[in-house]
Amino acid sequence: MTILVINSGSSSLKFQVIDSENEEVLAKGVCERIGIDGRFTYRTRTGISLKEAVPMKNHTQAVHTLLDTLADPEKGVIKDFREIDVIGHRLVHGGEKFTGSVVITDEVTQAMTECNDLAPLHNPANLVGVEACRKLMPDTLMVGVFDTAFNQTMEPKAFLYGLPYRYYERHRIRRYGFHGISHKYVSRRAAEFMGQDPGRVKTIVCHLGNGASICAVKYGQVVDNSMGFTPLEGLVMGTRCGDVDPGALEFLAKKENLDFAQVLDILNQESGVLGISKNFSSDFRELKDAEIKYNDQAALAREIFAYRVAKYVGSYAAAMNGVDNIVFTAGVGENDSDIRMEICSYLEYLGITIDEVKNRDEAEAFRISDGSSRVNVLVIKTNEELEIAREAAEVARMYH
Ligand code: ADP
Repeated sequence: MTILVINSGSSSLKFQVIDSENEEVLAKGVCERIGIDGRFTYRTRTGISLKEAVPMKNHTQAVHTLLDTLADPEKGVIKDFREIDVIGHRLVHGGEKFTGSVVITDEVTQAMTECNDLAPLHNPANLVGVEACRKLMPDTLMVGVFDTAFNQTMEPKAFLYGLPYRYYERHRIRRYGFHGISHKYVSRRAAEFMGQDPGRVKTIVCHLGNGASICAVKYGQVVDNSMGFTPLEGLVMGTRCGDVDPGALEFLAKKENLDFAQVLDILNQESGVLGISKNFSSDFRELKDAEIKYNDQAALAREIFAYRVAKYVGSYAAAMNGVDNIVFTAGVGENDSDIRMEICSYLEYLGITIDEVKNRDEAEAFRISDGSSRVNVLVIKTNEELEIAREAAEVARMYH
């Protein structure tokens, strides 16, 4: 099947065309600055590459642009957009309603709209992408793949906060967890790489990017995820604070004369390693370079980041009563061998020993623990688009 994967944001729309038989990416690109001026970047497997200004007033025009290009006789990879069998949409928040991927129907978009206030920045933007595709390709099957769905196997003991239960009953205030598409892909790829049955292993996935989360996956099912009601909870991230005592926030608001929206902006945009490094950078490469040049604040930011990751890994090993695989993924996890080393230095009690040479490898998947390590420590490149394509193909196969 030929699958078009769409990841629609408020002003950008990323896409990939994937052949589900051999899992090859035929073309990929991004429409940016939608509603502003419009920029189109596109690359094919055969080496065609475009980067141009294309006016895009809205998402429908963006989808129009990408379909025209995909079916262009010179630049394209298909003859006609009808060759696209399924569109797989990345959808951020499915609340408690969606525990797996679904064919997008009117009921589904309605149910998603009801989740809008759980993800006010993401869900409406995702839905705009769905509507744009519907308008231009009304007969093409569309599948929604949720970032929250994989985490829906969490039990109440993991997903409930210590708040009055009525707030869960009334408003569904609970922990949802995010990055589910990545955690699913990476935990399975790790088992495949190690020749294990995913239904028999305990895996901790450390998705360390600008947004970062850790997920405990036991026998193929999520036991816990460090992100909560929103992606603010858990690890110290690029610009997000992670776990903070809510009492400190009221104190901060009073002292600085801030309202709730302003406090949330600080927690989302000005905190994390950016805030700790005194606004030096949220980029781990820049922090590493600065650390080498004795920037103490940058060093402190990286130290706090690594310490928090190690604390979560320890707590998830406890939550699963053991761990077989620990996997690093996403921008920082895949590329920053120093931070991996620092995190693993806290984990010797688990019987983990790292091979420093292997740790500097750069493959799509590799093991960094040595032969005597009691836990496998791996680095795996995440591939959310491929996971979406796989899910879309599977749902389509069951549908037909
Ligand atoms: P997101 O998808 O959340 O935007 P990514 O997974 O793309 O994030 O990760 C972005 C982060 O990865 C940035 O902080 C960047 O500094 C970091 N990163 C990318 N390459 C490297 C590298 N070679 N060394 C250290 N950090 C890196």
